[in-house]
Amino acid sequence: MNTSASNRKDDAADLKCLRGVGPAVAERLAKLNIERPIDLLFLLPQRYEDRTCLTPLGATIPGMRTVVEGDIALTEVVFRRRRTLLVRIIDGTGQLTLRFFYFSRAQQTGLKQGAHVRCYGEVRKGPGGLEMIHPEYRVVDKNDKHSLEETLTPIYPTTEGLQQPRLRNLVNQAIDRFLPQVTDWIPQHCISAHGLPDLKSSILYMHRPPPDADLAALGAGIHACQRRLALEEMLAHHLSLRKIREQNRTRPAISLTGKHALRDQFLAALPFELTGDQRATLDDIDADLAGTHPMMRLVQGDVGCGKTVVAAAAALNAVAEGHQVAIMAPTELLGEQHRDSFAKWLTPLGITVAWLSGGLTRKAREQVYIAIGNGDAAVIIGTHALFQEGLDFHSLALVVVDEQHRFGVHQRLSLMEKGRHAAALPHQLVMTATPIPRTLAMTAYADLDTSVIRELPPGRQPIKTVALPEKRRAEIVMRARDACHAGQRAYWVCPLIEDSDNIESQAAESTHAMIAEALPDLSVGLVHGRMKSADKERAMHAFTTGKMQILVATSVIEVGVDVPEATLMIIENAERLGLSQLHQLRGRVGRGATASNCVLLYRPPLSAMAKRRIGVLRNTNDGFKVAQHDLELRGPGEVLGTRQTGLMQLRIADLIRDADLAPAVQKIATQLMDSEPTAVSALIRRWIGAGSRFGRV
Ligand code: ADP
Ligand code: MG
Repeated sequence: MNTSASNRKDDAADLKCLRGVGPAVAERLAKLNIERPIDLLFLLPQRYEDRTCLTPLGATIPGMRTVVEGDIALTEVVFRRRRTLLVRIIDGTGQLTLRFFYFSRAQQTGLKQGAHVRCYGEVRKGPGGLEMIHPEYRVVDKNDKHSLEETLTPIYPTTEGLQQPRLRNLVNQAIDRFLPQVTDWIPQHCISAHGLPDLKSSILYMHRPPPDADLAALGAGIHACQRRLALEEMLAHHLSLRKIREQNRTRPAISLTGKHALRDQFLAALPFELTGDQRATLDDIDADLAGTHPMMRLVQGDVGCGKTVVAAAAALNAVAEGHQVAIMAPTELLGEQHRDSFAKWLTPLGITVAWLSGGLTRKAREQVYIAIGNGDAAVIIGTHALFQEGLDFHSLALVVVDEQHRFGVHQRLSLMEKGRHAAALPHQLVMTATPIPRTLAMTAYADLDTSVIRELPPGRQPIKTVALPEKRRAEIVMRARDACHAGQRAYWVCPLIEDSDNIESQAAESTHAMIAEALPDLSVGLVHGRMKSADKERAMHAFTTGKMQILVATSVIEVGVDVPEATLMIIENAERLGLSQLHQLRGRVGRGATASNCVLLYRPPLSAMAKRRIGVLRNTNDGFKVAQHDLELRGPGEVLGTRQTGLMQLRIADLIRDADLAPAVQKIATQLMDSEPTAVSALIRRWIGAGSRFGRV
């Protein structure tokens, strides 16, 4: 493997050696995590534009994105609603207007009558014929032959103040000067075994695909060159996790050796016995906590399997010995619920439970900070607010992270650093209800040991799932009414699908109005993400205590909410949700002893894929089986919910789509960890960056 001096030099090369990079541009590049010229090679395009052919003006049609050129016949500034620069160009076959809302004087003078321009943009119908709004353009000399692009034009993810042409120029310089020196750290035989191209040609292809490139494959992220890079990116993340794990094994932690009196008291007061899996998980945790190095354990368990009680029991290990526990929830709603459960369980034992959320007043927050700093607060429940700088724990011995996939690995690690002023690192317990298949778990959670709770608490009735076209909504309203009259409660979930104008969504608000009107004798409430947290809390409280019987919600209730009396779950737009998300939502019911039902409302016609998804849910309640089907059903081109798969912040790889590469990733990682430490750090640096938390852990 090549670790020559020239290679080390290119790694160290300064961005300023590129033409056009001064301090300001360097600063903007830093926002994109680009610190060296070579980093530009790994800034991969989001999409491509075809600028390889010129369309005569007479042949342009609305919606077309193309290159055009022509002579300027007229330039004028008009004042309609806003000051607008209009430039009419002609080429003998037709005409087109260029429309600018923002323009400088220099631009205006440059675009003078008689000049010749080449533009790229989207053609649309304007008030006076076809036009382009803010096209990219260049004034050129008509008599020179200006060649068109020979490759597709990459469009990069960028940041404010850094325009595409500038970024493209920098990437091109980096390719010309530094690509030849890029080191391929992955042994060739590992790559060719998967039929993948080598690193340099993959990079080159991604930045400069030929005009006949398979855009569909590139768009779906399944082109061989993308897979080559995805493999390397997954490898880098996997390696970083394994390094973290390795380093943690050398760090001291507070050894908690089992003063179990408090815990026994807690367990004895519960109205139920722990299940066998819960007990086994707690045993795993006890063994870890007794160690002198930080525990790093993941508890995987389907929704409703009872992870919270296990976390509380584990917390008591730390509290019994005078240490603190931080419990981190992904949403305010879930945090509040944990706060309530923990307060209910632990306050009778004389333990102070504190709550820290972004919504606290300054004064309240200061008080909580003091209680955390002096150790008065033993168990601290919070949201992202727990990450705040300036929050110092008295003696943090255990960090519990609920619903791991909502947090990035590095966020989780940053909370561990809260114990850094002490010599010891806190133990970590991560809980997730997203049961991902084993090979994926081994890649994505490589820094963690795993315990699995498969068993649900006894007496749970399987949830019966049906799918109905939305025109039967009125029937379902009556069914909800009957359930509520029988003393039960119902969720009515209206997921709002973002980023999509053409897909209309059933807004929670209008559904709420419709149901409230249809069922005047019931209390129908509403929870959605844009509500104030106090209002959300009030609504949740009313639903939990039974003052409200029907809760209309967006997917904010997807995670963790626990109301055993709720037995009916109605999900709108079910055809548009992924399997895991549907399963998570469904898991809000079936938590008590009464049989529960889940109704999936959909708008016909169902696609073949949606039919299969719904079929899976009808046939199984087992989260692990659902996860496996999810993986199999998600074909290329399926829209992947980043929230569901957001285990890692990946640029090019997608853990679900590229799951088949996971075994190779693990194999190569082991090989490199054993014998190529230089490769390990170079790969981590290349894909995750020097600024990542990893560097400091
Ligand atoms: P999740 O794993 O989804 O976070 P929770 O911890 O919210 O699940 O537990 C779901 C419900 O099951 C809660 O009401 C909890 O009190 C209850 N529960 C937990 N363990 C048991 C058990 N062993 N027997 C009966 N009920 C249990
Ligand atoms: Mg939970």
